[in-house]
Amino acid sequence: MAMSEILVTGGCGYIGSHCVLCLLDGGFDAVILDDFSTGRRSVGETLASADSKGRLAEIAEGSLLDPESIDRVFENRRIDAVIHLAGSSQVAESVSDPGKYYRNNVAGTVNLLESMRNHGIGRIVFSSSAAVYGEPKYVPIDENHPLEPMNPYGKSKLMVERILEDYGRAYGIRSVCLRYFNAAGADPEGRSGECHEPETHLIPSIIRSLLDGNRGFSIFGADYGTRDGTCVRDYVDVGDLAEAHLLALRYLEENGKSDRFNLGTSSGSTVREVLAACERITGKKIRAEIRDRRPGDPAALIADNRKAKEILGWEPKRTLEDSVRTAYAWEMRRRGLTSSP
Ligand code: UDP
Repeated sequence: MAMSEILVTGGCGYIGSHCVLCLLDGGFDAVILDDFSTGRRSVGETLASADSKGRLAEIAEGSLLDPESIDRVFENRRIDAVIHLAGSSQVAESVSDPGKYYRNNVAGTVNLLESMRNHGIGRIVFSSSAAVYGEPKYVPIDENHPLEPMNPYGKSKLMVERILEDYGRAYGIRSVCLRYFNAAGADPEGRSGECHEPETHLIPSIIRSLLDGNRGFSIFGADYGTRDGTCVRDYVDVGDLAEAHLLALRYLEENGKSDRFNLGTSSGSTVREVLAACERITGKKIRAEIRDRRPGDPAALIADNRKAKEILGWEPKRTLEDSVRTAYAWEMRRRGLTSSP
């Protein structure tokens, strides 16, 4: 591919940092725009110093809410395309503080797109979410499933998808929207992994509960109409997600039209199955208690991923156990412990 430099917004976040690693490993130069509101400086330091085939990521600290800091990134470099992940991503917070989501996710993206226009940059890969679909009307969910997001987070992602359509029509900026299902796992080389504060996601929550003296992990509902009563989700490894971004860049480089793709494995796991995988990998019995359902959780979310396979040539390769193994090693490392899973 004849690309020189890729801008990754939110490149020090969980998925963004894996995209940066994938770019570096693939021979690209990457510049990261991150405001470090949730992105981690320690990951930034790793990305800026980890020598991946002689390539380093450059960090430009700045916010999408500050148009000048975006312009500065474009002015000083030859950027070919943007991978845009910066934004806020907690569903519950989006309900209590929607303004933050419309500001950071929608207004921030408009600032980015305006700067791209002004600098003649015409390709963007956007981190969207399965949250754009809302309560599933059927599973597996394909890209033609109705779009009825149930919270401001999902609405903000859908608004950006719509804005991208208009920017494509009017200004010729082509886009790929990647609708992630449940991201899981960590870099096998331990350079990055998941670390939200507070951590609400399933796999890190199970691992933390174990490492915090096996304090007990909460299963949110065991009375769903699923095979074992717990919720089914489509866990897709963050390394596979990262690879999809590179394929999306290549697709746009080869003049692919603007489009949107589900990124999931097309198979679901229940909470109990994930717990069992964690027990197999760690070799420990993990204490679990059944609690009430978490409000807003649908029983099952599974991607139909055929479109990404056919058009982008994407193939998720890592299994749930791979994701649990790397997530466990990452959490051990973060705590200064050695893991021998
Ligand atoms: N979950 C759980 N206990 C936890 C965290 C999550 O039982 O401590 C369940 C949650 O109800 C959902 C699934 O695990 O069915 C995945 O939740 P997560 O927050 O990881 O992702 P979401 O699907 O909500 O984006």
